[in-house]
Amino acid sequence: MKACILGAPAPIDRNPLTLTDLPKPTPGPGQVLIRVNACGVCRTDLHVVEGELAPHRSPIVPGHQVVGVVEALGPGADRFPMGARVGVPWLHQTCGVCEYCRSGRENLCERALFTGWMVDGGYAEYLLAPEDFVYSLPEGFPDLHVAPLLCAGIIGFRTLRLSGVEPGGSLAIYGFGGAAHIAIQVARHWKIAVFAFSRNQHHQQLALDLGAAWAGGSFDQPPVKLDGALIFAPAGELVAAALRTLKRGATVAIGGIHMSPIPPLDYDLLYHERVVRSVANNTRRDGEDFLRIAAEIPIRTQVQVFGLEDANQALQALKNDQIQGAAVLDVSGLSSRNASSG
Ligand SMILES: [Zn+2]
Ligand SMILES: [Zn+2]
Repeated sequence: MKACILGAPAPIDRNPLTLTDLPKPTPGPGQVLIRVNACGVCRTDLHVVEGELAPHRSPIVPGHQVVGVVEALGPGADRFPMGARVGVPWLHQTCGVCEYCRSGRENLCERALFTGWMVDGGYAEYLLAPEDFVYSLPEGFPDLHVAPLLCAGIIGFRTLRLSGVEPGGSLAIYGFGGAAHIAIQVARHWKIAVFAFSRNQHHQQLALDLGAAWAGGSFDQPPVKLDGALIFAPAGELVAAALRTLKRGATVAIGGIHMSPIPPLDYDLLYHERVVRSVANNTRRDGEDFLRIAAEIPIRTQVQVFGLEDANQALQALKNDQIQGAAVLDVSGLSSRNASSG
């Protein structure tokens, strides 16, 4: 099979991903083999490729927003019929027995494995996943448009929930990429007024197009104090900026797995019971709840499509703020593109 592999982390402008041939994997007990149609490109992939997340395996196939069809079943796997359309998220597997797993907090499992970081992901024609951690996908979403729901969507949703903002409230969103352009649709569905903060004017416009009440620069002050904030950009200086926009008792929820150092804070910014909290991974329940709501609304994702062979370029565009909405790799188109270019 064709796969984009990372040998050693390097700056993305050096094109560290290589398209190569790997053996098609064979599903083990409880696993399914999935033929990949599309794989979303997430900022976490950039952190893996550039080494901000320490490597666990070399080489590794990145990618954890995978849409495909079940093509083979490992011993004992019987949850999905052959040919079922499924999605694979970041959370590959948890231990199932630790205190976190047994208390509805499997996202915090210390023995969790993550797709495209610790096990091979979806920048490839096939991948393996445990059937218990694979999602059925709602009808009505094309493969390329459902892919960003699997991390940008699920993590954005968990971040929104952990912000504690209630229906009818007001919300700041910092960084208006893949996660934000989905989270705003859930927030608007819940009648939450959204205030979007971005250094990028195209992203500000996208926020307004999606129903933001206001859009401004990253360090602008909104016209009113807000009930909560989500930060999706990996810039530590946004924490103080977000706290400045909030009412007393409000929460800043940080959706990314990596952030530059957070500069010293005046305690006055945090005082009055404001909360800064991180959001780590997702539970399977988050994914199921979100995919149900996404189908109800329904969420419309805006995607920029790249070929699997252009994964480096997709990540460069993401790093340089050039993606409107979410980047997605069209993996199923690979063979036809090869045929026409050859
Ligand atoms: Zn566990
Ligand atoms: Zn992700």
